Amino acid sequence: MGLIVQKFGGTSVGSVNKILNVAACVKEEIERGNNVVVVVSAMGKSTDQLVGLAKEISPQPNKRDMDMLLSTGEQVTISLLSLALNQQGIDAVSFTGWQAGIVTEPVHGNARISNINTDAIQNQLSASKVVIVAGFQGITENGEITTLGRGGSDTTAVALAAALKADKCDIYTDVTGVFTTDPRYVKDARKLLSVSYDEMLELANLGAGVLHPRAVEFAKNYQVRLEVRSSIEKIKGTVIEGEAAMEQNLVVRGVAFEDEITRVTVLGLTNSLTSLSTIFTTLAQNNINVDIIIQSTTEAGTANLSFSIHTNDWLETLNVLEDNKEVLGYEQLDAENKLAKVSIVGSGMISNPGVAAKMFEVLATNNIQIKMVSTSEIKVSAVVEEKNMLKAVEALHRAFGLGNN
Ligand code: ASP
Ligand code: MG
Repeated sequence: MGLIVQKFGGTSVGSVNKILNVAACVKEEIERGNNVVVVVSAMGKSTDQLVGLAKEISPQPNKRDMDMLLSTGEQVTISLLSLALNQQGIDAVSFTGWQAGIVTEPVHGNARISNINTDAIQNQLSASKVVIVAGFQGITENGEITTLGRGGSDTTAVALAAALKADKCDIYTDVTGVFTTDPRYVKDARKLLSVSYDEMLELANLGAGVLHPRAVEFAKNYQVRLEVRSSIEKIKGTVIEGEAAMEQNLVVRGVAFEDEITRVTVLGLTNSLTSLSTIFTTLAQNNINVDIIIQSTTEAGTANLSFSIHTNDWLETLNVLEDNKEVLGYEQLDAENKLAKVSIVGSGMISNPGVAAKMFEVLATNNIQIKMVSTSEIKVSAVVEEKNMLKAVEALHRAFGLGNN
């Protein structure tokens, strides 16, 4: 008898009918002789609707109240699913995050799980019950309700799978797996049979919304066997594991993309020895996430600096830099909006030189100007104009042989 953690996302629990379908999926797993822990998201777009209600009252709502509000979404689903299972004669019990023993650090809106006390879940499993846990939420040592960041139910599921030493964690969603790129935009995107933890981590961080990046981090650290699959179509999904099987000797496994990127340029930095640390410390203190950073020095001995941020942070970044102009010691600020980041990811890159060169050549042939570049062992990202984003994705997807034809 094994232990399986199943996670169902918002679209998979979006209506009573869909919740009944989830109950059927759980039942199948029970009938295979397994114990099951189910993690669910809020129904459909209900988290967005709750955010909308709060924004009608306050443009910048208090984060503690937001956690209190958003954590209710998942509670609706756990109770309905428990009702559905019990109605069908399957013993089930619903748990909020705190009842499930999920303890987080004391941060509202984006808390990390620090510890899971699995006693309550284990007791129910020993009594042969299906345990249904509200995703995306936890509790601090001081009893405050927290949430794990948008998309965080994936992380609840993988963290529980790790803590309970489950045999597998199945992430059920509205697509059949992880694709070479987003199939909503590129028609010949292909489903991958397997992806390594590192590749998935890059893809998730670079904008592939199919898994929460922290869930992949957990899976990698605790070697949790993960599968992303459809809750409707009963077919094999994508397995995420230590070493992915190389399909067709592909060097690049996927193309990820993300819009709403802004490039900020700080010109004429005088004190280049400490100015970098001062600038980025100041931005970090204001919770501004910086992605790509490029610095160059001029003949006059000053330095110019460019970095990319999410466009949402752009006004705040500007304010922070202007407020601290004296201390930071620069001449001028400049920014460019409406940019996007297009990335190619694949562990095959480590042993294949020339992948970045090929990417740049493909973009050049398609008349796409590159504004910034960043690389890791297994990815190359290029910042381009937003209007060129999909053209770049399609061209790269084709050039690296990822499509169906
Ligand atoms: N309901 C939360 C959200 O919409 C968490 C999740 O679905 O993973 O972000
Ligand atoms: Mg999700």
